Amino acid sequence: MRTAIVVGAGIGGASAAVGLERAGWRVTVLERAPALGEVGAGISVWPSAVKALAELGVTGVEKAAAVSAPAGMRRPDGRWVVKASALGVEVPVMIHRARLHELITSRFGAGVTVRAGVTVDGFEDGAVLAGGEELRADLVVAADGLRSVVRGALFPAYGGPRYSGYAAYRGIAEVELDDGGGETWGRGRRFGFARLLDGRYYWYATENRPAGVVDADVWTGFGDWHDPIPQLLKASETVLQNDIYDLRLPLVPFVHGNVVLLGDAAHAMTPNLGRGACTAIEDAAALPRHLDDLSGYDRERRAAATKLVRASRVIGRVGQLDSRLLCGVRDDVFTVGGKVAGVLGRKREMGESHG
Ligand SMILES: Cc1cc2nc3c(=O)[nH]c(=O)nc-3n(C[C@H](O)[C@H](O)[C@H](O)COP(=O)(O)OP(=O)(O)OC[C@H]3O[C@@H](n4cnc5c(N)ncnc54)[C@H](O)[C@@H]3O)c2cc1C
Repeated sequence: MRTAIVVGAGIGGASAAVGLERAGWRVTVLERAPALGEVGAGISVWPSAVKALAELGVTGVEKAAAVSAPAGMRRPDGRWVVKASALGVEVPVMIHRARLHELITSRFGAGVTVRAGVTVDGFEDGAVLAGGEELRADLVVAADGLRSVVRGALFPAYGGPRYSGYAAYRGIAEVELDDGGGETWGRGRRFGFARLLDGRYYWYATENRPAGVVDADVWTGFGDWHDPIPQLLKASETVLQNDIYDLRLPLVPFVHGNVVLLGDAAHAMTPNLGRGACTAIEDAAALPRHLDDLSGYDRERRAAATKLVRASRVIGRVGQLDSRLLCGVRDDVFTVGGKVAGVLGRKREMGESHG
């Protein structure tokens, strides 16, 4: 039986372990955290990732998730910039991150061994190094996130993470609302929220600031924004804060000998498209198709991921604009663009209903 070591049991590594076990491999997962699990708040899962999960045998995501409404974008005073309802855009399902992780890890069978509390500290001559141990397998999957130790060992000259210039806040609010959610873009700040299946609301916010600020107060920047934003903030007990990084372009090859990079270790992107974890899941679903020739995995996944890293970065730059003038132009362009797209969408619908 062929063997694999997966470094990291986040959404990417866990999905990879499921795919490899289904392909008949014996898998050892090394995770530095003392137990399996995910912290965090909500997460958007796009249709392509729901399909990839189904390919991995992870079903029931739709039942555990809420379908978000295509709400659109507002200004901080509540005026709509563009309503998405007329656009016919694809929408993700929203799920709590811990629940998604649980759905994936619940597929682990007898072929997967999880070693929690094991920190990988290097990779040398084909061996994974962890606290004095040297571990070898036919395949090593580096799913150890943005600051991947394995990627660092294989590509020491690569620049790695790049600070985006903004940080994100996330929270879950227990609150009753009659609002479908959506995003609100201000100057150097954005706020978004969506309903989860259990009725709670997941919200996120971004704010321009230097890296490394600890315990900033989200209320300062968003407390006077339109309803229900103050309500959501008031109703949240825990607020997570992260400086936002992505990986420098060009990305390094996703395959090096018998090592495969997967998820954020390969292509960490800013969260502006809500696709980082989705892309990790799609990597994991693709990997079993390329086990006899890993170069196909690099060909299939690197180009697709590069596009998303770039597109997420551009959206972040536009979304985090700070100048009053440029934000005004941005909002006007979105308003006109939304109207044009709405008219085109209605024409298409009429054409389809007559055709
Ligand atoms: C604010 C924010 C919002 C986001 N929203 C979304 C969203 O809505 N939809 C979406 O698809 N994506 C979203 N993302 C992106 C998503 O969180 C990541 O892309 C995803 O978590 C990557 O999963 P991963 O398994 O590749 O890496 P990680 O989640 O980073 O997991 C890596 C794992 O490896 C372990 N590890 C690390 N180093 C070692 C080591 N040396 N030894 C052993 N174990 C190690 C870690 O403990 C961890 O468990 C968001 C990100 C942020 C910051």
